[in-house]
Amino acid sequence: MERRGSRLKGRMGSVTREGVRSFLRRNLFVLFTVAAVALGVLLGFALRPHNLSLRAVKYFSFPGELLMRMLQMLVLPLIISSLVTGISSLDSKASGKMGVRAVVYYMVTTLIAVFIGIVMVMIIRPGKGSRDSLMAAGGNIEPVQAADAFLDLIRNMFPPNLVEACFKQYKTVYKKTVSIRNVTVALNLTDSLNVSESTVVEMVPVSGSSNGVNALGMVVFSICLGLVMGSMKQQGQALRDFFDSLNEAIMRLVAVIIWYAPVGILFLIAGKIVEMKDLVQMGGQLGMYTLTVILGLLIHGLVVLPLLYFLVTRKNPFSFIGGLLQALITALGTSSSSATLPITFRCLEEINRVDKRVTRFVLPVGATINMDGTALYEAVAAIFIAQVNNMDLNFGQILTISITATAASIGAAGIPQAGLVTMVIVLTSVGLPTDDITLIIAVDWFLDRLRTTTNVLGDSLGAGIVEHLSRSELLGQDAERGTSVLEETEKPYQLICQENDSVKLHNSETPM
Ligand code: ASP
Repeated sequence: MERRGSRLKGRMGSVTREGVRSFLRRNLFVLFTVAAVALGVLLGFALRPHNLSLRAVKYFSFPGELLMRMLQMLVLPLIISSLVTGISSLDSKASGKMGVRAVVYYMVTTLIAVFIGIVMVMIIRPGKGSRDSLMAAGGNIEPVQAADAFLDLIRNMFPPNLVEACFKQYKTVYKKTVSIRNVTVALNLTDSLNVSESTVVEMVPVSGSSNGVNALGMVVFSICLGLVMGSMKQQGQALRDFFDSLNEAIMRLVAVIIWYAPVGILFLIAGKIVEMKDLVQMGGQLGMYTLTVILGLLIHGLVVLPLLYFLVTRKNPFSFIGGLLQALITALGTSSSSATLPITFRCLEEINRVDKRVTRFVLPVGATINMDGTALYEAVAAIFIAQVNNMDLNFGQILTISITATAASIGAAGIPQAGLVTMVIVLTSVGLPTDDITLIIAVDWFLDRLRTTTNVLGDSLGAGIVEHLSRSELLGQDAERGTSVLEETEKPYQLICQENDSVKLHNSETPM
């Protein structure tokens, strides 16, 4: 009897130990990353009283800066290779349908985000009262007219030089031109001709550029190349193999860099906490504004998007989101959805097991144009600035803000604080003072992290939704070829992920 009891205890002990071990193995990366965030916050607050010089903070943040650089290094080849292979592996009908579904998802969710933002800012009214309590922080953001910003967006879709597009974007700048025009020709009583001249000062839009990858241009080019390659049959095989192999190689690099991610995130977060100004300014209107954006993002990210995912797929959205934790934390740490892209790919393909034909197609496009968090924030910020200026907005103006906030989120690059720059479009469209952007600069670094996380969440849930909606085409294609592209491309990747095998086996898409 006693022997049986001790055997049972021993077995239970070993089961528990095994269970813990397998749990740890399964969630190792996520645990490391969560621990890194906690440590980063602790370290940051511990160092704040020491009033480090800016130079010291810069050195301290160096490991974080390295992570950003490593991730950014992979973004361009990843976007090109994944889009080209993703699209060329689908027939044109399937990619067309998938494209339409993705774009509808992007538009619907972005408009919902803007709507939530507008409702929240109208209810909470964070900007009411006098603006004396708000201090404008320094900063210089060049205004661009809304029409020119729209045209720039379209221009950037077609880069004239692909090499230049890897590091530069088109941006309209204004040149002051003074022209003299003869305006009045009059005959006076003595019959002499009188020509009076007037000087016309005009701000003429001319071509300029800003630094940064023209992701939109690369996306458009890669989609077109993928479409053409898909229709080239045997002739396109060499190129398809090349991009497929490039994509696998980049993903293997991601698998290596991911080990460094927790260290980088720790220092990114700690550095930012050491650097941030006193939280005193967060009181009053700015505090309420911050709260409004946070509430809006929470409603959108934790209620609306998961609900949409559930309604479409009938699967548990939160176990899907659980598989994305590492990407979400990386977005929080880096403030950049494009730098997070490699990790997002990995989470979706390796943990959530989303079909690679979908992720390769939908994720790079999503990271470039689908930014729900940014759209919500742009709408809140514009109406907040109107409230601070005691300006009542009519329905037409609110509609204009919705449209321009959507466009501004599409135009924003997936880099830190890009939304702050494109906000100028929203403000100018309803005649709000662009200088007032400086009122919200103090809290923007923080809100940027939260909206980037929402952006990444929106892209990832979108991939899950598009995959579910496209399953009949994907299965049809598998049946046609007799094997799935997923199976074909997966094998070499499994080798490198051996240590994390259990993560791969864990499928978080458990039906509810
Ligand atoms: N940082 C954001 C992103 O990368 C863009 C923004 O500034 O809103 O998604």
